[in-house]
Amino acid sequence: AELPAGADSQRDDGERFTADTSVFKEPVLPKVSRYNNEPAEIQKYKRLRRELAFLQRKVQQVGFDRLSEHEQKEIELKKDLLQLMESKSKVESNTEGFVLAGTTDETSFKNGSPDSMKPRPMKEDNKSRQQMWEERVLSYAVAKNDSDEIYVDGSKQYDYVFDDSAMINFTSDVEDTVPGGEDSSEGDEESDEEDEATTKYAKIQEAKKSLPVYHHRARVMKAIQDNQVLIIVGETGSGKTTQLPQYLVEDGYTQDGKYQVGVTQPRRVAATSVAARVAEEMDVKLGREVGYSIRFDDKTTPGKTVLKYVTDGMLLRECLTDPDLKKYSCIVIDEAHERTLATDILLGLLKNILARREDLKVLISSATMNTAKFSKFFGDCPILTIPGRRYPVNVHYTLQPEGNYINAAITTVFQIHTTQATDGDILLFLTGQEEIESTREKIEQIASKLGTKIPQLIIAPIYANLPQDQQALIFEPTPENCRKLVIATNIAETSLTIDGIKYVIDPGYVKENSYVPSTGMTQLLTVPCSRASIEQRAGRAGRVGPGSCFRLFTKWSFENELEMMPKPEILRTNLSNTVLLLLSLGVMDLLNFPFVDKPSIPALTKSLESLYVLGALSNRGQITELGKMMCVFPCEPEFAKVLHTASADEKCNGVLEECLSIVSMLHETTSLFIGNKRNAAARIVSETEGDHLLYLEVFRQWRDSGFSRTWCQDHRIQFKTMCRVRNIRSQLSRCCQKLGLSAQSKTAAIKLSEVIPRITRSFISGFPTNVVQLTNSGNYKMLGRQTGALTVSIHPSSVVFQNYKENAKKPDKYLLYQQLMLTSKEFIRDLLPVTQESWLTETVPQVYQELL
Ligand code: ADP
Ligand code: MG
Repeated sequence: AELPAGADSQRDDGERFTADTSVFKEPVLPKVSRYNNEPAEIQKYKRLRRELAFLQRKVQQVGFDRLSEHEQKEIELKKDLLQLMESKSKVESNTEGFVLAGTTDETSFKNGSPDSMKPRPMKEDNKSRQQMWEERVLSYAVAKNDSDEIYVDGSKQYDYVFDDSAMINFTSDVEDTVPGGEDSSEGDEESDEEDEATTKYAKIQEAKKSLPVYHHRARVMKAIQDNQVLIIVGETGSGKTTQLPQYLVEDGYTQDGKYQVGVTQPRRVAATSVAARVAEEMDVKLGREVGYSIRFDDKTTPGKTVLKYVTDGMLLRECLTDPDLKKYSCIVIDEAHERTLATDILLGLLKNILARREDLKVLISSATMNTAKFSKFFGDCPILTIPGRRYPVNVHYTLQPEGNYINAAITTVFQIHTTQATDGDILLFLTGQEEIESTREKIEQIASKLGTKIPQLIIAPIYANLPQDQQALIFEPTPENCRKLVIATNIAETSLTIDGIKYVIDPGYVKENSYVPSTGMTQLLTVPCSRASIEQRAGRAGRVGPGSCFRLFTKWSFENELEMMPKPEILRTNLSNTVLLLLSLGVMDLLNFPFVDKPSIPALTKSLESLYVLGALSNRGQITELGKMMCVFPCEPEFAKVLHTASADEKCNGVLEECLSIVSMLHETTSLFIGNKRNAAARIVSETEGDHLLYLEVFRQWRDSGFSRTWCQDHRIQFKTMCRVRNIRSQLSRCCQKLGLSAQSKTAAIKLSEVIPRITRSFISGFPTNVVQLTNSGNYKMLGRQTGALTVSIHPSSVVFQNYKENAKKPDKYLLYQQLMLTSKEFIRDLLPVTQESWLTETVPQVYQELL
């Protein structure tokens, strides 16, 4: 049988095909499919080849005779059809000398080399990553080989092999303890490189059919048809996020592109990675029929995108320009149980929109918590449950409370890794980026010490700020005889499903905003998770087979010390931005807005107060022109105020360009420097007054280098981060232009010595209460109304810290900070010295006249 061996994947050669389609004359192939920009004929042809190749593999495996009669017929039919198409297209297109990719692969046609027929082998990629990993690990080993022992900070000393005494004792709910390494069932069949893409596509199609939601498709779609609002509940991984929206598109809810289906996600990482996956499943290019939209990054094509994954915050912003969300026929509020602030506000807005738009469908999708509350909120709308499958998970607790959960987690990782067969991956929940990165380093160091005594451990971190190109690693299949360790924030609790996880390690903590209205302070605190979250996390171990969950706390603690449910964000956050948004949407009566959970009156009052100080509200509580302008910016209103002041205020203007750079840089400070910030900073400026000015200088020098990659490498700066900064800057700049904010000074050109004072004043106007004052005892304390005398420390990463501690610079009386973090201490970071008191009293007299 002459079947095409070369595999087609639209992702690999989509571009080429688009280019070549010019040879098809319009009348011949006029139809363009809904999902694909290739002529329908080519799509059909490729699909056919893929399907045939898939069937052919089956023939090779089981033999033609053992296929069902139906399948045998299908093969014959498809072969005929394929031949017909090939002969036809050759005749029609040979004027251009073009041969439609047929039995001979089109790549081989172009370069004439049979080797090029092979799709890029995946294995090479793996190898190079493996090599990189080995190199990295090796470098640790070289650096550390002065000592033979392995230390986990602050804990006992371990020998090369973890002996029993070093291990943590776990108790179990079930009689058996750490499950023995069962032998793996069937090994993964060798994949034939030549039709790897075909196999991949086929595998995806098979996987789709195996998801729980697939078996309930008819029931779900009927319920959607019959109800305007529907709540859909199902285990994580049952296909709610990836499949349901596709069903909606397939069943014509977008009316051939007239409407969109919008799916909200609380997190950026989830929106982008799910959109990529769904594009792959639908075999289209990401950003065309399937796209995503997150802040500063819109990957959709107007008029083409029918399925769009957005962060809940972005959909909220869309309400500003499209209050009835007219372009959507269906909106899926996904991960509703997370109860983020934006999701809660959206639910309230949708409740009003639904009354005005009878044709709109709203699906609320949630993991198995909190659902009755949603149903009640939407007038007792039906709840549809998708029965999930979940294998049993053995839960283990520690016998004693663990003082240091990071150390306990690291020990548990190696305990599992060194005693269990490698056929199960590990998922470790930590609270944030810094914790994840430092833990990963420690684990890599230990693994390098153990060298070849243990199987390879591939560490894949995932957190909100992880650059997109590194996210994919968590989904990549683990090579044989290796184990993958995913270290995640609670993003892996329900938003992302990672296959192959068999062990979950759960220290039981989460990082949460907590807001105290009386002081106006937001703190990011590490707090114990709710019981509901902890149950969810354990469930991640039971997706592909029976698993184990290791909880790094005692059973008593689980039963007696934890909240049942997480607290909705609306009850523990600063509401200023939300209130401003609601006001600009014309919601005047905040107290009667349909909140799922009503925020407290003090929290609302406080937010109105600070909006007034920013100038966004009049003294009668109405939104001002400035307030409306602040809403238009795709950044926090405080930053918008900085930009506005830098352009419009008489005492500040003329520094808009500088402020645009600083504001954009402040959005991306977490992954800016390679390695130590101060080493990198030293390469850029010998001395600088504060972090804002350092960021300004970084951007200026990079721009002067022609946005060069080499400059970044030479100065230990992440090139990709700088590219994002540049993108953010141009979006903010465009927004300024649209609003008529000018970079020129209103009077004369300003002197160089005037630049810093003007920048500082601009930032004071945007962040009037983010100021600390030096006390007689040499500490800094919080300033601003109603604050107690909370003392804060300067974070060591700040250049201000170095100036004071190492360069013996006299401390400034006032500092403006961008971030206040409560970890082991109250730290402030990203600091701008305020060298003259009058800047405070003149810029925000409402706050400082009586205070200073
Ligand atoms: P739910 O929303 O119900 O939790 P999802 O739709 O997110 O479920 O996931 C369904 C399936 O899709 C999961 O089993 C997972 O294996 C698969 N999947 C989702 N995202 C990806 C991805 N980026 N790469 C590979 N597989 C994925
Ligand atoms: Mg989901």
